[in-house]
Amino acid sequence: MAKLYEGKAKILYSTEDPEILLSVYKDDATAFNAQKKGTIKGKGEINCTVASALFQSLETNGIATHYIDCPTPNQMRVKAVKIIPVEVVVRNIAAGSLCRQTGLKEGTVLPCPLVEYYLKDDDLGDPLLTRDRLFLLDIVTEEQLSTIHKMALKINQHLQEFFNRCQITLVDFKLEFGFDSQQKIILADEISPDTCRLWDQTETDPQARVMDKDRFRKDLGQVESAYSKVQERVLAALNI
Ligand code: ADP
Ligand code: MG
Repeated sequence: MAKLYEGKAKILYSTEDPEILLSVYKDDATAFNAQKKGTIKGKGEINCTVASALFQSLETNGIATHYIDCPTPNQMRVKAVKIIPVEVVVRNIAAGSLCRQTGLKEGTVLPCPLVEYYLKDDDLGDPLLTRDRLFLLDIVTEEQLSTIHKMALKINQHLQEFFNRCQITLVDFKLEFGFDSQQKIILADEISPDTCRLWDQTETDPQARVMDKDRFRKDLGQVESAYSKVQERVLAALNI
């Protein structure tokens, strides 16, 4: 198996089948465009397990994903796609860069989900894109953008309901889409505590409730146990 690409959170390997890749989830953690680096023990297995559960649940609800199966707890076989170089962010509650860039107070419940597009380019610092910039850069057509927008909202609807059953509030999350071998747009990459903001509904304290990578970003401590708790609740909600 040849290593195709080593990213910040996963390593991609080719397999005997050109349409299938192996994604190996790592314990490495980065934040602020990799300026902050560390390790979250057990993260690879947790994120792979959580992502696998969420992908399967989305598939059951009619959303096409790259997920195939998990040969080991930190390895996922996925359909090879041509990644669309856009980070699609869906927000239900104001946090992070939305607050920094707009002055909205953290925790403000948005009147409807906000879908945003960021250029997936670490050298440029993943800048926020407008629709017209997406078309200018020839990243997607209007029709493809409309498909992505609809899929993002449907995924949000499903994940919000799913996490509510876990007594977790889905604040925001990042998605990546790609073209499969049939040129169909499917959900790729991962959905995990690294890529979502998740707040524990059983905690009221604004620091105690954080169950995601913000614990690592902001040095809140107990990162591993927060990630483990997400995994436990997600698996319990699926009856796995
Ligand atoms: P990054 O450091 O770019 O965030 P990650 O370590 O998170 O990278 O993931 C590795 C790379 O795998 C990312 O560039 C992501 O876009 C890509 N990727 C995810 N799913 C697929 C797939 N199904 N086919 C091809 N590439 C993928
Ligand atoms: Mg990534």
